[in-house]
Amino acid sequence: RQPILEIKDLKTYFYTDDGVVKGCDGVSYKVYEGETLALVGESGSGKSVSAMSILQLIPSPPGKIVEGEILYNGDNLVNYSEKQMEKIRGNDIAVIFQEPMTSLNPVLTAGYQIMEPLRLHQKLSKNKAKERAVELLKLVGIPSPEKRFKEYPYQMSGGMRQRVVIAIALACNPKLLIADEPTTALDVTIQAQIINLVEEMQEKLGMAILMITHDLGVVAETANKVAVMYCGKIVEYGRVDDIFYDSKHPYLQGLKKSMPRLDSEKVEELYVIEGMVPNPLNLPVGCKFADRCEYVMEICRKKEPEAVYFGKEHYARCFLYSDSNESE
Ligand code: SF4
Ligand code: MG
Repeated sequence: RQPILEIKDLKTYFYTDDGVVKGCDGVSYKVYEGETLALVGESGSGKSVSAMSILQLIPSPPGKIVEGEILYNGDNLVNYSEKQMEKIRGNDIAVIFQEPMTSLNPVLTAGYQIMEPLRLHQKLSKNKAKERAVELLKLVGIPSPEKRFKEYPYQMSGGMRQRVVIAIALACNPKLLIADEPTTALDVTIQAQIINLVEEMQEKLGMAILMITHDLGVVAETANKVAVMYCGKIVEYGRVDDIFYDSKHPYLQGLKKSMPRLDSEKVEELYVIEGMVPNPLNLPVGCKFADRCEYVMEICRKKEPEAVYFGKEHYARCFLYSDSNESE
C-alpha cells in the first residue's frame, strides 16, 4: 500500500539573527488514505513546522527546508515551484487552522469563500459553484444553509465559522486534510462537535488526515497512528493503542499522566512534567529531554538516542531501551 504522503528525513531550519533554530530536525512519517496520523507535542516541538513545510508555507527567510523529501503520491513537493504549489493547496491538500478568523476573509460572505476554490480549481460555473457551496454548508451541519451562504464571518459564532472553514477545505475533495489545532480556540462543547464533524467527513470522503494537536484527548478520539514530537524530533511513534497502552518514552508517559481524566469523579491535582522545554537556540547535546527526565543516565547527555523498535510500527528514541547503554 502506497502512502498518500511520505515525509523522509525532513529538516526545516530557521536562520535567525541569534542563531539557527532546527524547527524540524530529521522527521519522517507516512499518511495513508482514510487514516489519521496525529502529530502531538507542545508548542515549538516542530509539529506545525513539518505540516507547513508540506504546503511550502514556511516564511522564507528565515525558514528553509534544508534536507529531506516530501512525497505526495510519489512526487517530491520540495522541488515544486510556487505555481505548482498553488494547484496543490486547497485542491489536493487542504488545511484548517486553529483560529477560523485567520482562514476567513472578513469582507467576503461565507458562500463566496466556499465558491472560490470551486471556481479556481474545479473550474465550476458560478451557478454550479453556488449549488455546490450550499450543499457543502449542509454537509458540515450548518442550519439554513441558503441563508448562511449570504452571511459574513462576523455574523457567525466561532463554531459556525470553523464549520465554514471545514466546508472550504472539503470543497475540492482533498486527498489530504491538514488540521492544525482545529479546535483549540473553541469552547469545549463545540470542540467535540467539530472533532466529530471531521471524523464523519473522513468516513464519507475517505481522505487522509494529518491532525496536529497538543491534546491527547483529540489524539484518542481521532488518530490511527501517532507521532509524539519533542524539540523538532519524533521521540515516539506508534499505533494509537501503542501510544495509550504501551508507551515507552518518559516524555510521552509524562504527557499521559498530565492528561485530565474524564472518567474520574474526584478532582485530582494534575501531574506536570517538571522543567522547561530547552531553548531552541541552544539545544543540549544528546537527548533533548534529559533535563526533565527522571531516568536520565550519563549516556543521555552524550549521544542522540536512536529509534528502538518494539513492533513493526512502534518505536521510541530513548536509551532506556537500547542495549548500547549497557556497553557504554
Ligand atoms: Fe530520559 Fe535518557 Fe530516555 Fe532521554 S534517552 S528520555 S534522558 S532515559
Ligand atoms: Mg502550532
